[in-house]
Amino acid sequence: MSNEYRHVLVAVDLTKDSHKVLERAIPIARRNQAKLSIIHTLEPLGFAYGGDIPMDLTSIQDQLDDHAKQRLAEIADPDGIPREEQHVVVGMPDTEIHRFSREYDVDLIVVGSHGRHGFALLLGSTSTGVLHGAHCDVLAVRVGKEGETQE
Ligand code: AMP
Repeated sequence: MSNEYRHVLVAVDLTKDSHKVLERAIPIARRNQAKLSIIHTLEPLGFAYGGDIPMDLTSIQDQLDDHAKQRLAEIADPDGIPREEQHVVVGMPDTEIHRFSREYDVDLIVVGSHGRHGFALLLGSTSTGVLHGAHCDVLAVRVGKEGETQE
């Protein structure tokens, strides 16, 4: 039994790839007897529309938040991850994942990686953003290229 990690954080985009990322993280957390948290970040609506829409977006943001929490629970509940370890936060994925990791002493972040090539690689990805600036280990789980069918 290794106890290298004490708190593992799994970042999910709520697509079907999320199961693959979670399935890699769970045995690592078990082997280390580590706490396992799962996080999804929602882009702030005001940010997406650059503040151009003259209306209060709060209730739409709340609905998106509720929907994301429901979807996250569908992914995390079957693996017995308690609701208090399931987090939906508003912001940019890399910034919020780093913030959470520092605040809750995460020592391993697990993300999915699409193994992009060429221009797509140059344009960057969430996993690259999470790796850059992380204060702890990051495991990038290969989930196949975008558009590829994954079970
Ligand atoms: P991407 O680079 O956006 O294709 O996503 C690769 C991985 O980054 C996903 O498998 C997740 O682990 C993570 N990720 C992407 N978007 C989010 C998000 N909104 N919240 C949390 N993690 C995310």
